Amino acid sequence: MTYETSEPIGVKRFERILRIPSPTSFDVGDINSYVILPEPGSDQLVLIDTGVGTEAAWQSLTSGLQEHGFAIEDITLLLLTHAHTDHFGQASRIREASGCQVWGHEQVATTVAGFLPSPERIEVEKAFLQRFGFSAEMYDKAYDYRAYIGDIFRPCELDRQFQDNDVVAIDGFDLKVIHTPGHCPEEVVFWQQESRQMFSGDHLLPNVTPVCLLDIPETVDGERTHALSQYYRSADKVIPYNVRNIYPSHGDVFHDHRELIAGYKLSTERRLLKVSKILEQHGRLTPFEVGQYLFPKVWEEQLYAVISEVMGHLDLLLDEGFVSTRELSGVIHYELLAIPDPGAVFKPVM
Ligand SMILES: [Zn+2]
Repeated sequence: MTYETSEPIGVKRFERILRIPSPTSFDVGDINSYVILPEPGSDQLVLIDTGVGTEAAWQSLTSGLQEHGFAIEDITLLLLTHAHTDHFGQASRIREASGCQVWGHEQVATTVAGFLPSPERIEVEKAFLQRFGFSAEMYDKAYDYRAYIGDIFRPCELDRQFQDNDVVAIDGFDLKVIHTPGHCPEEVVFWQQESRQMFSGDHLLPNVTPVCLLDIPETVDGERTHALSQYYRSADKVIPYNVRNIYPSHGDVFHDHRELIAGYKLSTERRLLKVSKILEQHGRLTPFEVGQYLFPKVWEEQLYAVISEVMGHLDLLLDEGFVSTRELSGVIHYELLAIPDPGAVFKPVM
């Protein structure tokens, strides 16, 4: 969880790809939408990700397209890397203006429902987080951003749900869908085989370590996905691709995803060591207490990001046998068994 606002990078054309950044009020800065420009004689105009549902983002998209002789009305297909507000927030307005098709992964609906939870769902989440040492007041604080999201999130129904390995047919520019859950369950990246180009969404970001958001199951005692472990399985899945250019949702185009992933793994290993040292020093702790020691300055302001980060690392340590858990009066505590050596968690992929 290291946020570094990307420098504004502007509209830019790379052969058939047009990058249009639009503003968000999130720490991560602008979000890049990408347009696949039509082949001569074709009217197929494909947009990847929408920006947030604000007037400012709408203006950015309008003027970016205009610079290259197009309008929002010309969009024929909208593809989603995932369903977060900055990727999906403008979808209903774009569809209304253009009549375009909207395609995304089959788990998009789960994430959309998570932004606007029912009262029953809120009770499940509260009870679930109490097991990690959260009080009900902390829950309210951790999720108070939802009211704001409600204002800038205008998603729509999908016309088609795609799955891992599906191919989106685009004239001269077919895109393969690679399901890369971890940052969120429905995240995909798009791969263009002939030109060896990848649209990496929030899965691979040049200036930021992607946050792997805590999964809360349907029921309090349901099975929880270990999001950070899942993230690295997805990263290992894209490592073998022989990529020329990578177009991320935040920040500038880059080329070496293997180096980037190796860097992510190093920083995760460093944090695993830090979490282990905290447990060594303080003994048995709840996840919430680990968060207070790990992020002494920001834990109170960023409860949701902090608990996601802590659980991701505790999951990895648990999966690899470096910690054990014990439930004490309904709250889960973690205890250190051994400090992980460098390289103990991530084995070489290729
Ligand atoms: Zn995202």
